[in-house]
Amino acid sequence: MNLLRFTRLLALGLALLAAASTARAQWTSRGSSGGRLVIEVLDIGQGDSILIRSPEGKTALIDAGPTRRGAVDLLRRMGVTHLDLVAISHHHSDHYGGMEEVVRVLHPQYFLASRSGHSTRTYLNLLRAVEAQSITAIQPGSRPRRIELGTVELTIFPQPPEDPRNENNNSIGLRLRYGAFSMLLTGDSEVVEREWWERHDPSLVRDCTILKLPHHGSRNGTDERWLELVRPELAVASMGRDNEFGHPHPETLRLLSRDRIPLLRTDQLGTIALESDGRTWSVIRPAMARRGRPTQADIDRIATVTRDDAVERSPRRSRTR
Ligand SMILES: [Zn+2]
Repeated sequence: MNLLRFTRLLALGLALLAAASTARAQWTSRGSSGGRLVIEVLDIGQGDSILIRSPEGKTALIDAGPTRRGAVDLLRRMGVTHLDLVAISHHHSDHYGGMEEVVRVLHPQYFLASRSGHSTRTYLNLLRAVEAQSITAIQPGSRPRRIELGTVELTIFPQPPEDPRNENNNSIGLRLRYGAFSMLLTGDSEVVEREWWERHDPSLVRDCTILKLPHHGSRNGTDERWLELVRPELAVASMGRDNEFGHPHPETLRLLSRDRIPLLRTDQLGTIALESDGRTWSVIRPAMARRGRPTQADIDRIATVTRDDAVERSPRRSRTR
């Protein structure tokens, strides 16, 4: 496919990203990072969309949820007017559905996606929009690659051989690092891809502060081995309320609870915001009673309050998204 001009070398592009961008922190004062990294797992329904804002005001959006305008409307409401980088974890519409609109409205500088041949007309339209705006396209390679968002570092995992039968296994793997804080984002990767990364370079996935559960908490996105390697202090996951897939699956919840890893879910809490100064981290939305690692009891209490509150405020709100 030559819709995209995959021509510029990553090193060149990323040096530009680090050095030449004139991006400023353009979100509202409430969302201002104040020298901290802020990561928001957006309440996007049954899909993924994660906004990263570096202390320097560099911004990246990983995935854009299932619906055409969902992500762009959310970002606008949050006061986001600029994105340095957008990424599609893999070619499923619950991840790229809103990205064409994001690209058209927010004109990101860089577009990261895999070369997977899995495609649809909507995905091709997204690629056309990327090309029409001369956005620099970047891809995972056979070795880890690094993107700098100011002082926040994103490592793009090497891409395993394409799985033609299961697009989930063509997910892009990303490890975010800011000082001692790290987060693992691997799209909807299933065991085949996760094992490949482990064989290839276990240090990519080992010991991350926060784990975004692969595949919305599905049983095929999390297993004992994965949790043993990543050893997260907290798991986050995005899924629609009462979704038809039963996400998160009880097997995943059992594994997390066995390992005492608290889980924050967008279907219960809405948008989840995490903050780090590179040494410590905290959950800033929903507001937790205390800073630092929340316990599962903290989360359960807040989830209950949030759910009741949502029902009270909008009793006719659709429960299926
Ligand atoms: Zn998905």
